[in-house]
Amino acid sequence: MDAQNVTLNNGVEMPILGFGVYQVPPEDTQRVVEDALEVGYRSLDTAAAYFNEDAVGRAIKASGIPRDELFITTKLWISDAGDEGARVGFERSLGKLGLDHLDLYLIHQPFGDTYGSWRTMEKLLAEGLTRAIGVSNFYPDRLVDLVEHNEVVPAINQIETHPFFQRADYQELLASLGVRIESWGPFAEGRNNLFTDPVLSEIARAHDATVGQVVLRWLVQRGVVVIPKSVRRERMEENFAAADLELTDADVAAIAALDTGASLFIDHTDPEAVRMLSGMAITD
Ligand code: NAP
Repeated sequence: MDAQNVTLNNGVEMPILGFGVYQVPPEDTQRVVEDALEVGYRSLDTAAAYFNEDAVGRAIKASGIPRDELFITTKLWISDAGDEGARVGFERSLGKLGLDHLDLYLIHQPFGDTYGSWRTMEKLLAEGLTRAIGVSNFYPDRLVDLVEHNEVVPAINQIETHPFFQRADYQELLASLGVRIESWGPFAEGRNNLFTDPVLSEIARAHDATVGQVVLRWLVQRGVVVIPKSVRRERMEENFAAADLELTDADVAAIAALDTGASLFIDHTDPEAVRMLSGMAITD
């Protein structure tokens, strides 16, 4: 799987398996990302709201890996939304990462002046400051609205996707629009006892694999971009080796039955969630 890329709607290639750094403590992030790069990950997913872009940047620099072999994603937070704010937020992130361009820049949440943000991101794309632009946490109505009324179609929608919230119908809609689905929380952060789930455990046993590998392979077989997080090197290796697995149709059918059709984390259409997320600001 390490060599496997997907082609985004503007021709840019992206590794289907990357590494996420949400909730990695800032003081550990440099070491964790250096480990991930040594293990073989080349795609890194961070965000202004993770407060660890600078440590990700230090790890990239320390790795000595040529820039064109890496695929770096970060995200614009709500408090920087808008025509001008988005450029300020972008430049702040780029500076923290110590880079001269990004590979993928995402609107982190579908709130605030997302239209202004998107106009600026279209310009950043045209200026070559990022190779692709996309969104995150956009439910179908917001996504179709954005696509209908703007020039550039998002390359990616990064959304909660795991065995308990599978998003199969939404993936079809996204595909019809040319938007690639990227999973956040591929393991549901361990909720619902994912790592000891009987169905997943049985499939893992049959393939002499781990539950984590089964879940990642199941997503990749669906064409979903994945960015699992772990602070532990042995798990980074385990997750990176998910390629050596091929799930059967029966495995896929058994996993399909685990879908609850609902988020285990947050409903972005809930007014309280909108208020809560909109109340968080990012500054220097
Ligand atoms: P996740 O990848 O589903 O789960 C991470 C959890 O699983 C950690 O507790 C980790 O523990 C554990 N873990 C990892 N590999 C394991 C393995 N092989 N066996 C057992 N446990 C394992 O959750 P996530 O970090 O929320 O999602 C992944 C990435 O998606 C994030 O890092 C972030 O980049 C992105 N994300 C984006 C959004 C968004 O709004 N756009 C939201 C959430 C996440 P250890 O670290 O202790 O190993």
